[in-house]
Amino acid sequence: MNDIAVRLQSVRATIPLEVTLVAVSKYHTSEDILEAYDCGQRDFGESHAQQLVAKAQMLPKDIRWHFIGHLQTNKVKMVVPYAHLIHAVDSWHLLTEIEKHAARLGRIVDVLLQLHVAQEETKFGLTPKECKEMLATQPWKTLTHVRIRGMMAMATNTDDDEQIGKEFETVHAFFEEMRDKYFSDDPTFSLCSYGMSDDYRIALHHGTNIVRIGTAIFGPRKM
Ligand SMILES: *Cc1c(COP(=O)(O)O)cnc(C)c1O
Repeated sequence: MNDIAVRLQSVRATIPLEVTLVAVSKYHTSEDILEAYDCGQRDFGESHAQQLVAKAQMLPKDIRWHFIGHLQTNKVKMVVPYAHLIHAVDSWHLLTEIEKHAARLGRIVDVLLQLHVAQEETKFGLTPKECKEMLATQPWKTLTHVRIRGMMAMATNTDDDEQIGKEFETVHAFFEEMRDKYFSDDPTFSLCSYGMSDDYRIALHHGTNIVRIGTAIFGPRKM
């Protein structure tokens, strides 16, 4: 077996079957992706629109492409035809852009709202307050081509496991609060996407059901 197959298997062995493993293939080649694909992996994550489109056009059609990066509104048009799930929606404007392009294609696009809980200022996302305000005041229920499926987050990049655990706990509690308040009649609001190579074990203890793992599967990024 090659390195990718070995690493993919050892990561999978640590993740419960009901949790979706997104193999983050950004900056890795199509050959690398196919090695994981040949081991049965079907969910892949990309954070650049051009790369996602190029790979989606070239690689097998049963791959589920996750757009995990910050999505600029001028890239929505490129991503919408290929995305299985857009993880990091952080504004009402972006939601309406996705709605517009999904409607044109006659598609329904699933998205997550990105919550900002990390201590770093540079990370994108809605604060819990902003997220609440958006759901309370914007007519998101009228968007018929975009479906809000849950929450996504990134923890602070730190060795302090306790801090990371607290942040994931905050995300999960917020997810439940929003679910109970706004989605009690919608069982499809059910997805929590947090946990990366260095912190997914902690995330699994705090209720995540999608982990996004790159380095631990593909090794250091190449392209
Ligand atoms: C790159 C990236 C990941 C994967 O990070 P690794 O540390 O390589 O596992 C997960 N989520 C997002 C949003 C990313 O940009």
